[in-house]
Amino acid sequence: MMTQINCIMKTIKLMLLSLLVLPAVNGQVPGKKRIDQSITLSESEFQLRFLASDELKGRDTGSSGIDVAARYIAEKFRLYGLTPLPGADDGYFQTVKLQETYPPEKGQLVLGNDRFEQGKELLVLRGSGIKLDTEVVFANYGLEADLEGLDLKDKILVVKAGSTEATNPRQFFGLIGTKQQLAKSMGAAAVVELYNSPAIPWPMLLNYLNQPQLGVDKDEKEQKELPYIWLQDSQNDQLVAFKENKISKASLEISDLVKKPIPARNVLGMIEGTDEKLKNEFLLLSAHYDHVGVGQSSDPNDSIFNGARDNAIGTVAVLSAAKTLGANPPKRSVIFAAWTAEEKGLLGSDYYAENPLVPLDQTIYNLNIDGAGYNDTTVITVIGLERTSAEQHIKEAAQNYGLTAIADPAPEQGLFDRSDNVSFAKKGIPAPTYSTGFTSFDEEIMKYYHQVTDEPDGLHFNYLLSYFRAYVLTASKIANDKKRPFWIEGDKYEVAGKELYGK
Ligand SMILES: [Zn+2]
Repeated sequence: MMTQINCIMKTIKLMLLSLLVLPAVNGQVPGKKRIDQSITLSESEFQLRFLASDELKGRDTGSSGIDVAARYIAEKFRLYGLTPLPGADDGYFQTVKLQETYPPEKGQLVLGNDRFEQGKELLVLRGSGIKLDTEVVFANYGLEADLEGLDLKDKILVVKAGSTEATNPRQFFGLIGTKQQLAKSMGAAAVVELYNSPAIPWPMLLNYLNQPQLGVDKDEKEQKELPYIWLQDSQNDQLVAFKENKISKASLEISDLVKKPIPARNVLGMIEGTDEKLKNEFLLLSAHYDHVGVGQSSDPNDSIFNGARDNAIGTVAVLSAAKTLGANPPKRSVIFAAWTAEEKGLLGSDYYAENPLVPLDQTIYNLNIDGAGYNDTTVITVIGLERTSAEQHIKEAAQNYGLTAIADPAPEQGLFDRSDNVSFAKKGIPAPTYSTGFTSFDEEIMKYYHQVTDEPDGLHFNYLLSYFRAYVLTASKIANDKKRPFWIEGDKYEVAGKELYGK
């Protein structure tokens, strides 16, 4: 049995011990103090007000406004002591070769005695100009099994969009490259795909696609590309007759698509880690800095889509991380990235993922930021929170600032696969998106989402200050943790991850 005096001694010891332990229990995580000194309310507000200002005209890809934003970010990187990435162009920039493709001036398909025209029943998606009279062959979905044994030489191949599994327009698009390649390898002259999807009805599709499209310039200059055309699948009697094998010839005439280069740049910088071994591993902190520019809006007095929430907030978070970690490097190296052309289809991040300046298998995690806005200033919404083993770091960092990290409240929206993080996730890099707090897509979100009202005025700067600090603390925890974060077992990108890192 313990003596009285022993018992008192032990109590005193425990009390002393608890005094020593207490700060950690209360969340005095290393780095927090420095983070709080580094990231201030006034500086955050200044950066948000500058990046989302009317003068930057909505930071549209290809505009002068976005160039000012790019210069601002690059010079901040310089100020914070970041080094350019190896192989970057002109310091902190990575040129992203984009081009705008205009619909062909002329495009028509004559089937039987009916004429289908570009911008009406016809949409030329890809391909060089062509004029021919030839046989037409119908081959189900135009996949390998469908084409087996067919003679397609110099003929027009007609197929259904998608496949038995690929049933929505996004998936239709995903199969175009494969089908185009297959048809080309068999000598076909053109592919006409019958489009029919209730998800995006034909008139809406026309509205969206029969105008200049921005894409990556894949350097396919001078090469003849097989024309790939969508035709509205309808009850048109000539089309029906064709499907019943009563028509076997058609003529097709399209002019070349007109292509114009568009200047665009990612802004990138890095700091080297302090640990001899871990510095060869890179944490990628990123956000897109472009927005949608100037255009018609519901407000006759405003035409500037300032993009304060989408995504000046993300850009300022990355700048805050660059400032803090630039002055206090963690064990791992860190890449800071501001992507261009996210709003045009994730083009900047996708370009980097295809042309990385640091090998992707050394890039161990991507903490990306994008956001439509927020409707709850007590939370941080992390799209993919529960999908990587960094969940605990993210939650703890938020707690340190009195916030709760919550997972995607609207998984049916497919947000995980709709922002720059997916450019890396599909390569295998664990990559959630760290958004400001939202609990549903309600009116409060839609009031600002891609609207001219998405202005810096009215932002909750105090909430954002905590949000920025929590982001940087999360990054610091991940960059200092000896254990590398990875996908949770069974995640749809886990296999890609194992392949990338050779696990
Ligand atoms: Zn965005």
